[in-house]
Amino acid sequence: MKCRQFEDAMSTYFCSVDDKEWRTLVIAEKWERLPTSDAVEHLATCPDCVTSLLQYLEIRNTVDYHLEPCFHVAYYSADVVDRCLDKSHGMYSIITNRDRGEGIVIGCCPWCGVKLPTGI
Ligand SMILES: [Zn+2]
Ligand SMILES: [Zn+2]
Repeated sequence: MKCRQFEDAMSTYFCSVDDKEWRTLVIAEKWERLPTSDAVEHLATCPDCVTSLLQYLEIRNTVDYHLEPCFHVAYYSADVVDRCLDKSHGMYSIITNRDRGEGIVIGCCPWCGVKLPTGI
């Protein structure tokens, strides 16, 4: 399983897992206590996707990330503490001044490089 496949599958594998239990086991890297699957196998070897899973558990009830170009931009433009992206007219921008609503439109995801729309 590759990272992008893992991201796409998160909503299938982890939509109803126990948030607290999984957080505890994943952070402690207790892979043997989680049900065996190719997704859990990937987690055991990929710290980036561990981060994505923890973020997914945070927004799984409020954001459908499949509607956006990748999980990262969906997460970082959502209403979360780590929010650093703004989304308008389908374009994503890095927030440079929150109060004045200023930002710089980005053409690809800073985390995975997927192309993002830059025109309306
Ligand atoms: Zn990965
Ligand atoms: Zn991305």
